[in-house]
Parts: sequence; C-alpha cells; structure tokens
Amino acid sequence: MLLRLPVCPHCHAVYSYAEVSAMKQEERFCYHCKKKYKVIKTKGKVILMSFVCIILICINLLLFTINEDINIIVLALLNLSVITAAVLILPLTVRFKAEKIRKAEKRRLKNKQ
Ligand SMILES: [Zn+2]
Repeated sequence: MLLRLPVCPHCHAVYSYAEVSAMKQEERFCYHCKKKYKVIKTKGKVILMSFVCIILICINLLLFTINEDINIIVLALLNLSVITAAVLILPLTVRFKAEKIRKAEKRRLKNKQ
C-alpha cells in the first residue's frame, strides 16, 4: 500500500490533503477534466487500522518484556501518539477509481455549461 494523496485517475490532477480528508466515499467529478471517479476510503482505512493494531500490540508486548514496571501513563501516551499518527495518515490511504459517466449525466453536465 502506497502512502500518498490520491490523484485523478483520468488526468492526474492533484488534490490537497484538506480536500481529500473532507471527501466522503462517493462518486465525484474531477475539477480539472470533469470526468467521473469514485472515492474509495474503506479499504485503505481497514488496512491501515489493522496494521496499527499489530504495531501497537508489538510495541506494548516489547515494552512489557523489557520493563514490567513501566509507567501506565507513558504507555497510554505512546499508544495515543501512534493512533494520532495513523489518523493523520488516513487521507493518504484514500484512492480514486475511474468511473464511466452515464449518458444522462453527460447530458446534464452539458446543460450546465
Ligand atoms: Zn481529472
């Protein structure tokens, strides 16, 4: 899984971090080429979150093995920072899938112009 912001699958137009994080999982039209694509959020989210869970389990097990008297607050803060980092990375796992524009939609877009 590559961690980078998604680009338009048709024209490779770039979208900002803020734009991508505000997007819902839905069909959208590119601001640049006006072609349709679908925003895919769930897949990246599931992969990232499972990865984070494994990392957290490993970190906690490792720390307990090294030091059994580890401060619980330190441990909580460490876990929290890993989760925060994951949430910040989340928009980088969003992907755009090219979709065909239906004839009715094409007509509607033409009428708008
Ligand atoms: Zn485009």
